[in-house]
Amino acid sequence: MFEKILIANRGEIALRIQRACRELGIKTVVVHSEADREAKYVRLADESVCIGPAPARDSYLSMPALISAAEVTDAEAIHPGYGFLSENADFADRVEKSGFVFIGPRPESIRIMGDKVSAKQAMIAAGVPVVPGSGGALPEDDKEVQRIAAEVGYPVIIKAAGGGGGRGMRVVYTEAALLNAVAMTRTEAGAAFNNPEVYLEKFLENPRHIEIQVLADGEGEAVWLGERDCSMQRRHQKIIEEAPAPGVDRALVSRIGERCVEACRAMRYRGAGTFEFLYENGEFFFIEMNTRIQVEHTITEMITGIDLVQQQLHIAAGEPFTLRQRDIQLRGHAIECRINAEDPFKFIPSPGRISNWHTPGGPGVRMDSHVFSGYTVPPYYDSMIAKLITYGDDRHQAIMRMDIALSEMIVEGVQTNIPLHRELLQDANFVRGGTSIHYLEQKLSQRN
Ligand code: ADP
Repeated sequence: MFEKILIANRGEIALRIQRACRELGIKTVVVHSEADREAKYVRLADESVCIGPAPARDSYLSMPALISAAEVTDAEAIHPGYGFLSENADFADRVEKSGFVFIGPRPESIRIMGDKVSAKQAMIAAGVPVVPGSGGALPEDDKEVQRIAAEVGYPVIIKAAGGGGGRGMRVVYTEAALLNAVAMTRTEAGAAFNNPEVYLEKFLENPRHIEIQVLADGEGEAVWLGERDCSMQRRHQKIIEEAPAPGVDRALVSRIGERCVEACRAMRYRGAGTFEFLYENGEFFFIEMNTRIQVEHTITEMITGIDLVQQQLHIAAGEPFTLRQRDIQLRGHAIECRINAEDPFKFIPSPGRISNWHTPGGPGVRMDSHVFSGYTVPPYYDSMIAKLITYGDDRHQAIMRMDIALSEMIVEGVQTNIPLHRELLQDANFVRGGTSIHYLEQKLSQRN
């Protein structure tokens, strides 16, 4: 195992990775911007390095600053967390070429999965079901584009091969709007992602978002660790996640999980990863793979009892992969609420000093947060300040525990979305389970 690693991230995930390391006896180097100097995990770290001013492009996104921080501290490996450089193949490449271990997949895997056209082709090859569509980048020929769209059937969605973060997509309902939409998405994609390639797929009108967690050793061994339902979203941002997905046929989920494992074997995938699917009318359709640890990994940890961040470390250190599919047992139900420092009605970020912070507790309650009373939420980064996770023997108990935990939580000095979470926990459709990815937006439009 490593003796010392560098954590190239901030906030709750920096603390989460640090905790995993401390338990394994690994020393941590924490990097921080000038704005994060006072963070709790910085003080708890064995070593810390200031890598630049507050704006992320000058600190958390600065590859030279991160690599020199690893050099001066003699760290052996770099954990990228999520966001920032975690899915940047060039960063993974530079980390490895500089003689450090990248705690994540090989750069080639990140590259293949980062291009949606090549990702989809890899899935088709492994027998993972994908959304029906053009099968590759759209050709230049207009007639051919029209023929493909007619064959797939309207509505269709035009997506940039290099797109991400919910950008570079356009829904088309009629042939009259098709060619213009393709041209516009191409132009935008060229400017935003440096890759004008676009493809087309069937637009699913009322799907759920269900994703499968995997761990793989890079040598052809892999396991899947159940699924998560992340349909409660606003502007493509997940707000509440739960595991397992309510009301989905277990045999079907298993078949999909096995296909994901097959895909990992075929590409000799290494580390933790997530296959994201849209689920509609009893069918799964792959949309993309995330080649990193995700925010919502916690709920999978709760229902499997497996520490995913420690698994990432074991795999990256090249230890023998001992997990076997038969050892992965899903038990109970877990829910995560993302607590953001924002106005709960207008969703405007609410940075500032937290004057009072009281966190809930009790059986089945987990709080992942770097925040404390007196902490100042900087205005420069993502507004998520905590993840509240509850576990229950069944979904009902997990919901009850979440409702109580939210009622106990006190945050003063900044606004948070806790009132929205409390409304959702009481919402009859959420309580029933299985709402689509559009549910929250629809509910919010009525609420305002
Ligand atoms: P990104 O990498 O930008 O997040 P995704 O491919 O994951 O892009 O898609 C983001 C979101 O767009 C999905 O979660 C879903 O809400 C919507 N979406 C993508 N593809 C389709 C589709 N074929 N039908 C309906 N909605 C889609």
